[in-house]
Amino acid sequence: MQHELIARDKKVNWHPYTQMKTAKHIPIVRGEGAYIFDANGKRYIDAVSSWWVTLHGHAHPYIAQKVSEQLNTLEQVIFAGFTHPVAIELSERLLKLLPQNQQKVFYTDNGSTAVEVALKICVQYGYNKGGKKNKVLAFRNGYHGDTFGAMSVSGRGLWTASFGELLFDVLFIDVPTKYNLPDIKAIVEQHTDEIACFIYEPLVQGAGGMLMHEADDLSELMKFCRSKGILLIQDEIFVGFGRTGKLFAANHLSEQADVMCFSKGLTGGTMPLGVTTCTQEIYDAFYADDKTKALFHGHSFTGSPLACAAALASMDLLLQEETQSNIQRICRQHQGFSIILKKHPKIKDVRQQGTILALEWKIAAETSYFSDIHDALYPFFLERGVLMRPLGNIIYLVPPYCVSQKDLEYIYECILDALEIQE
Ligand SMILES: *Cc1c(COP(=O)(O)O)cnc(C)c1O
Repeated sequence: MQHELIARDKKVNWHPYTQMKTAKHIPIVRGEGAYIFDANGKRYIDAVSSWWVTLHGHAHPYIAQKVSEQLNTLEQVIFAGFTHPVAIELSERLLKLLPQNQQKVFYTDNGSTAVEVALKICVQYGYNKGGKKNKVLAFRNGYHGDTFGAMSVSGRGLWTASFGELLFDVLFIDVPTKYNLPDIKAIVEQHTDEIACFIYEPLVQGAGGMLMHEADDLSELMKFCRSKGILLIQDEIFVGFGRTGKLFAANHLSEQADVMCFSKGLTGGTMPLGVTTCTQEIYDAFYADDKTKALFHGHSFTGSPLACAAALASMDLLLQEETQSNIQRICRQHQGFSIILKKHPKIKDVRQQGTILALEWKIAAETSYFSDIHDALYPFFLERGVLMRPLGNIIYLVPPYCVSQKDLEYIYECILDALEIQE
């Protein structure tokens, strides 16, 4: 069956971020907890939470039950002119968990669109107030999604090269450190009159290579931007919902953003859903008798009741003591393994933020997504029943919180084995 599925897939499907000529796609027919199973019955530990979305494991019975109940009650309704209880409850409960200044929720259906909405909110906010600021400030090596706006504010590189001319102009800065903060502030200062907003991944730049920066330095930069009237968009699409060891990256920061974006783990990785939240002050700039002041954005599946039900169920699970103690246990296990890795001669750098662990392999060539080391390591781990997707020479772990202590130890062993064998 495995071979047949592969052949049928090859005939009709075009996969994301994939050179189809050389790629191979393993048919997965079932998931349970931290495991996925291929058509031959082979089991893989999902060490990357299926692209960083699965929080509580695959096919979680509680989420399945809640979505199923919703499916039999109200599967979908237009969210313009209508509302429904699950979206109301999700917004209420989500806002209670977020920094106090977050007061309104706008729904979309993935991370990229949550970012598009955040950018549009910030630019139209200025427009509605009669201003002319429309430049965006962003970090180099950032990643905010694949639609044109999200791509524009993401770090430029091989991924965006073919679209270069079509991307709008963005002011890029380095992530802050104690040393470069004065320089960064000087650059921002020079452009304050044009900058509408600053978008950033807090603490961890995921797709850029699991790059990490200090909460204090980011807080100081946020404070500076705020003092210059620049709106802050905090993209917690990857780091939200426990990944950093706290509920949100915001819980590590002493400053609060104006706009926040969520997706990925929002539904526990069950259904596509995006959320953009904002302050009352921003919302009020759109609130008027004048119809043209409204936010002009929406999607067919805005506020999908099924996705909202999944998000509520995932939130129930996330807040359980068992999940919270699992998160802390993963953090401790990662810390222990980091100490071993730091002494390893083949390791260039080890980085950890909560449940996210990244290690950088020493190689001659510059770190790149297209590095050959990926091509060697990816099958090495798969063969051993572990799904990891190295970003070039960077290996990272983003496990679902239900991963067992033993399975995590097994993954560490596989990494150490790879270090022995791999040149
Ligand atoms: C994945 C990601 C996005 C884009 O989300 P999609 O749902 O894949 O469109 C945006 N920002 C960050 C930080 C991400 O990790």
